Amino acid sequence: MTTTSKPRPTPRGEEAAYFDAAREHRLVFQRCQSCKATANYVRAICPTCGSTDVGIEDSAGRGTVHAFTTQLLPGGPGFADDVPYTLVLVDLDESFRVLADLVDADHDQVRVGTRVEVLFDDVDEELTLPRFRQVKEAS
Ligand SMILES: [Zn+2]
Repeated sequence: MTTTSKPRPTPRGEEAAYFDAAREHRLVFQRCQSCKATANYVRAICPTCGSTDVGIEDSAGRGTVHAFTTQLLPGGPGFADDVPYTLVLVDLDESFRVLADLVDADHDQVRVGTRVEVLFDDVDEELTLPRFRQVKEAS
């Protein structure tokens, strides 16, 4: 184990709702009450129509890999023990995207379109990070 710490998210304003929900093991997204567009992160104004009538909904936490990259070299000194690791851009079934890392994965098996599901990593008492794992298909 290294003593170098990883960078931490510093959510501000409406972004805090995403991390507050993650601490409760909920993956949330924004849905505009005017035009029904979805967004992530949560904002004060709908990025599609400009309405301030926005709400927060819970996701079922399942989606497909839209894009991915496997890091063979650490992205910073705090990640030296993690390589190789895979970052995935996930299209959630509710039509919003999340960038996170893929855990418990066979990095050679990840493809665009791979089905994934969220899990919650309680980093410490103040921070929980949503991560994803590959959905194991029934055989
Ligand atoms: Zn809207």
